[in-house]
Amino acid sequence: ILNTTSNFIQNEINNDLQNGRYGEGVHTRFPPEPNGYLHVGHAKSICLNFGLAQQYGGKCNLRFDDTNPVKEDVEYVDSIQADVKWLGFSWDDRMFYASDYFGQLYDFAVQLIQAGKAYVDDSTAEEIRAMRGTLTEAGKESPYRNRSVEENMDLFTRMKKGEFGDGEKVLRAKIDMASPNINMRDPVIYRIAHTTHHRTGDEWCIYPMYDFAHPLSDAIEGISHSICTLEFEDHRPLYDWLLEAVGFDAATRPRQIEFARLNLTNTVTSKRKLRQLVEEGYVSGWDDPRMPTISGLRRRGYTPAAIRAFCREVGVAKANSLVDVAMLEHCVRDDLNNNADRIMAVLRPLKVVITNYPEGQKEYMLAENHPFKGGHRYVPFTRELYIEQEDFMEEAPKKFFRLKPDGEVRLKHGYIIKCDEVVKNEDGSIRELRCSYDPESKTGGATANRKVKGTIHWVSAEDAVRAEVRLYDYLIETDEKGEVPADFLAAVNKNSLEVLHDALVEPSVRLTAEGTHYQFLRQGYYVVDKDSTPEHLVFNRVVGLKDSWAK
Ligand code: ATP
Ligand code: MG
Ligand code: MG
Repeated sequence: ILNTTSNFIQNEINNDLQNGRYGEGVHTRFPPEPNGYLHVGHAKSICLNFGLAQQYGGKCNLRFDDTNPVKEDVEYVDSIQADVKWLGFSWDDRMFYASDYFGQLYDFAVQLIQAGKAYVDDSTAEEIRAMRGTLTEAGKESPYRNRSVEENMDLFTRMKKGEFGDGEKVLRAKIDMASPNINMRDPVIYRIAHTTHHRTGDEWCIYPMYDFAHPLSDAIEGISHSICTLEFEDHRPLYDWLLEAVGFDAATRPRQIEFARLNLTNTVTSKRKLRQLVEEGYVSGWDDPRMPTISGLRRRGYTPAAIRAFCREVGVAKANSLVDVAMLEHCVRDDLNNNADRIMAVLRPLKVVITNYPEGQKEYMLAENHPFKGGHRYVPFTRELYIEQEDFMEEAPKKFFRLKPDGEVRLKHGYIIKCDEVVKNEDGSIRELRCSYDPESKTGGATANRKVKGTIHWVSAEDAVRAEVRLYDYLIETDEKGEVPADFLAAVNKNSLEVLHDALVEPSVRLTAEGTHYQFLRQGYYVVDKDSTPEHLVFNRVVGLKDSWAK
């Protein structure tokens, strides 16, 4: 339901099913490392993996790939669960941790040693790197490569017992130092790290490497299709080698399929870089509304439906590309256009006094909440109002169809007014406009259909509620192509947040809850921020009204 476009992954799955492979059905997994908050790139992977399971009536596991205790934390485990749920997916009882398999993974390593397919190496990390060679230079065998099974067993057992310090020894798979694929040149599969793990505590001081733990975790869970990003394409031979070496049946074991990762213009999609933005104070936190994290997008006012629609639109490709962030904005604009109620809010107020409107009088104007969802509310109208500063121009060009001296404009849901006088402060700035209204020009009145070119929004001075409004721009400034430069910190946009402290909104929204969306008429889409209280309203601009995305 959530992902219906046909793509090459579906073709591969269809082939497998037709060939009788995976009789148990499609079983995918989303495998985040809990070392940061999920971002929009992860959303693509989530929609893909959970979406495929839904389409094929299969299953999708949430698996924490928590094999690197140095950078991981329960804070991230919790936020990842919250984000996946918020996006609209559920894993029921299928939440797992790679760390739950530490015992099994250790046994697999022992099995490799006993089969002569793994050995303990005393070389340093640099020595191993040098021995593994380069694309043009063949690898060299380690002097420890031909240790006996007994010696390897003894050393690996002692590694596990904690007899050696970090980096003193590693376990390597014994594959092929002459392979053209560097990943196959005896990769390290276990390392020593005397570090407390967020789940297993100090039970282990050796930890499996990602390339070892990942395929085996997939196989343990009975995953059919292990979908990952393109960087792992040349890790696939190692994936297959390991499953073969420990004896998983070639006819049923998981297979890896790679797709292009999501890259967005003006957007950082790397946890490491996002962490830097947080830790070095460029943003207020992982959920800063300018962040492309799921929690940042949520706070910014993005909806799960909009993000899912975006992932569907982007589709799945086999080649890397850069997607225009305007497409993401288009998706949320589309969703909010369909669903957000309309209200009037004045961001930069200019006072208007309607001189012929009786003092102390108040009437309530009937206003529709949404052009096609319907619903109505009443908006108070009084002698003193506020309009948007930019809706008045003293020396206006011909095509300016808003308010100007001696000009007329319609107030949305209200009357036609005419600007009779501009009152100024001593410094020459405009203090207020004195206007008169046409009492018959309201809907149903005698002059209601009188042609006036412009319609502007307004709020009642007496009734409007003060609000703080936060306007956002891209966090990263880029060249025209939108590519984030390598030195992304130098490209941080210093003006990506503008705070308006004196905006005024209709009183109807005073008590709305965090996360409620509105279209501020003629302004854009806004959401009630988590900092908002009934005494101090705070809105985030989600996105403006104008769509800059062309298909
Ligand atoms: P990062 O580089 O941001 O840390 P990662 O791949 O290291 O990302 P993981 O937690 O390992 O982060 O990712 C979990 C899953 O999400 C992986 O299967 C990974 O392929 C996928 N993923 C991560 N980033 C993207 C992206 N930009 N587009 C699509 N999928 C992604
Ligand atoms: Mg990863
Ligand atoms: Mg990473």
